[in-house]
Amino acid sequence: MGRARIAVMGGDGIGPEVTTEAVRVLETVADLFGHHFEFFHEPVGGHCIDEHGVALLPGSLRRVKRADALLFGAVGGPKWDDPRAPTRPEDGLLGVRKGLQVFANLRPVRVYPSLLDASPLKSSKLSEVDFVVVRELTGGLYFAKPKRVWESRGQTRAVDTCAYSEAEIERVITVAINLARGRRSRVMSVDKANVMATGRLWRQVATRMAGENPDVKIEHVLVDSCAMALVTRPESFDVIVTENTFGDILTDEAAVITGSMGMLPSASLGSSALGMYEPIHGSAPDIAGKGVANPLAAILSSAMLLRHSLGLAYEARLVEQAVDEVIAEGARTADIAAGGSAISTTEMANTVVTTLRTLHSTAR
Ligand code: NAD
Repeated sequence: MGRARIAVMGGDGIGPEVTTEAVRVLETVADLFGHHFEFFHEPVGGHCIDEHGVALLPGSLRRVKRADALLFGAVGGPKWDDPRAPTRPEDGLLGVRKGLQVFANLRPVRVYPSLLDASPLKSSKLSEVDFVVVRELTGGLYFAKPKRVWESRGQTRAVDTCAYSEAEIERVITVAINLARGRRSRVMSVDKANVMATGRLWRQVATRMAGENPDVKIEHVLVDSCAMALVTRPESFDVIVTENTFGDILTDEAAVITGSMGMLPSASLGSSALGMYEPIHGSAPDIAGKGVANPLAAILSSAMLLRHSLGLAYEARLVEQAVDEVIAEGARTADIAAGGSAISTTEMANTVVTTLRTLHSTAR
């Protein structure tokens, strides 16, 4: 039996709707396997600004740091979009990532055979797609200083800074190499070495690490070329590793390949077992409150939580198998229904929970 304290930050929009269902799946796992999971909730994002004037409370971060894992929903929405606002919902998200020092964001991308029609790509391009993007998460343009907007000689100006150290690059490429060892042993390192100084440093470190790890094939590609290859030959990738901004953009592109943002989970890992697990989609204000969001990305994120933070690989696999089965059997929320009949967020999670119980009892 395992014990774990799991922090939950639902956030805004559909965030709380999908994390509620992921918690229910984790509670089912605890029930089936005799584990004891204790959940506690912390505010983050837009509604935290409304209630407390900040997007993340220092006390919340302290409590999350003492937990075994963090299940995160999403933050943001039109209500908090004013560019002149002193604080934004994303400050909460970035504050958690930085505070937990989760520097490697893992985003597995796979296509479910029965969802091939939901993808904008031809199905002939998709059947072999199975890759993971490892995105550097705590450095680069999103964090480095100076970062500001100011007035000068009658013009408003703005600056962001892209900065990386050798150590920051090395530790995230190490995660990619280790991941590749359990897969097809191929890493594609993505940079912009032709024009950016940080890109040249990235390539220099990746090249050195390729020499030090001959069992893994490490290749290099420019980010623009990678963006094209993701739609022309997505099956050619095994593990992709890249810096923060490129990773943000490429993973959204990769998400579209699968047919829905609602299907893709992510894990953000650092050097301790405490990881942060969140769907890659945002708060989807267009469907928030309607009970129609796809909870599978959040549920699959909870499977990654079981595997990476709690060391429960068997339980994680069972949750993933349950999701495979419900999709294969035709359960569809509106985003993947292609105009056909759709079930609600809760009904989809109910189907996963029932399938999980059946899989567990047949495996005994
Ligand atoms: P989004 O991912 O929220 O939505 C994009 C589209 O995908 C929408 O049509 C939405 O309805 C659909 N979608 C997303 N998740 C879905 C799900 N689980 N089920 C069904 N359909 C789903 O991206 P956006 O519209 O660009 O951003 C909305 C807000 O979310 C913005 O405020 C943005 O800043 C924020 N955001 C937050 C995060 C995060 O918290 N990690 C990530 C991305 C965007």
